Amino acid sequence: MDDLMHNDPARVIEADRAHVWHHMLQHRALETSDPRIIVEGRGMRVWDITGKEHLDAVSGGVWTVNVGYGRERIADAVRDQLVKMCYFAGVQGSVPGARFSEALIEKMPGLSRVYFANSGSEANEKAFKMVRQISHKHHGGRKSKILYRERDYHGTTIACLSAGGQMERNAQYGPFVPEFVMVPHCLEYRAQDGLAGADYGVRAAEAIEEVILREGPDTVGALCLEPITAGGGIIVPPKGYWEKVQEICAKYDILLHIDEVVCGLGRTGTWFGYQQFGVKPDIVTMAKGVASGYAAISCCVTTEAVFEKFKDASDPMAHFRDISTFGGCASGPVAALENLHILEEEDLLANSTRMGAYLQEGLSQLMEKHALIGDVRGMGLFAGAELVADRATREPLAEKQVQAVVADCLRQGVIIGATNRSVPGFNNVLLFAPALIAGRAEIDEILAAVDGALGRVTG
Ligand code: PLP
Repeated sequence: MDDLMHNDPARVIEADRAHVWHHMLQHRALETSDPRIIVEGRGMRVWDITGKEHLDAVSGGVWTVNVGYGRERIADAVRDQLVKMCYFAGVQGSVPGARFSEALIEKMPGLSRVYFANSGSEANEKAFKMVRQISHKHHGGRKSKILYRERDYHGTTIACLSAGGQMERNAQYGPFVPEFVMVPHCLEYRAQDGLAGADYGVRAAEAIEEVILREGPDTVGALCLEPITAGGGIIVPPKGYWEKVQEICAKYDILLHIDEVVCGLGRTGTWFGYQQFGVKPDIVTMAKGVASGYAAISCCVTTEAVFEKFKDASDPMAHFRDISTFGGCASGPVAALENLHILEEEDLLANSTRMGAYLQEGLSQLMEKHALIGDVRGMGLFAGAELVADRATREPLAEKQVQAVVADCLRQGVIIGATNRSVPGFNNVLLFAPALIAGRAEIDEILAAVDGALGRVTG
């Protein structure tokens, strides 16, 4: 049966169409087109079930496969571990868990404890629960509010959506969890009235302080931010922003939780995005790049000071009363450790910096040629090109045209992305996050596809 299915693409497509409910898809689309089923990958290239080859400029669609496809070394390590010891609940220790935690913490000065989970959403839920428990245990129920930023995304569960700054993801899923409070975004290109101008970075951070003062500093326990807003618009915080944010958190005794689910493990050219800005977080969550998609693993990492707040043998409720059946399941940390070694041995962080600069330079050159590009931004191999209908007014290009650019690239055999849909001004950003193994030839291929597509969409 399996062989028959594998050798018979039409049967697979039929089974998919009949039974699979795809993520984020309006299934009406499959009434007039086939589902795209990817069957194989090597390096940065993937093949779909029809045999068509693609260059993947988005690392598995959602910026995950940082070390590229077909890494036998990771698969072998996972296989060996599964045969030896596949699973025992995380209340016990595991050899892979201990080894990976040690290697990870070495890359994160100032932090010391790794809590395992399975997805980015789940890691963020752990962080939120930690903040809430600290509030109960150490602040008499005060400091329970968690601040999050407009355009940031922290995951798909109801609590994560409660901390989600993208209305296109949140609409129709309320009511949400109370005591999550939004602060303004920090995209200079679309600066809010009253914040635009010199020192925008400092002003955007001061806007957070205003929210804290409005809510009451003793009600606010944590501030949760992406280091660079990813799906919400590729927003790199402007100069002066992070210094001010750090100062504000210290001033009001607010825990700083950085969501590294996208930037984590090398994407921006440092191990973590926050390290680009000299930030000292209290809690860091990560998922996608931890094992590059070879296993489902996420981590919520904290300082020893946060960890210590849960140590009190006299109180039976003091420990972090949380469990995740598959969190830390042996295959996760084994894959993660090999992934980390590959990043290190192949010097892929430096490559991300080098090739990221090359990609952004290429996009900036395309900007000179195509009036449709209004802004280019990013860091390392994580870049966005915001498309506008009119450069002078910055009127966003219609979503349909943005999607036409993405579809044109796909026809040319290059998979690029675009930011989340439905919000003009933020949904019109082409997104590039190739694997960190990318070389000049692959970047040139991506740029050539975008060049061609933009020419056809205008013309
Ligand atoms: N945080 C950020 C910044 C993300 O971009 C995502 C997913 O794209 C998540 C959290 C949620 O991760 P997951 O889909 O693994 O739950």
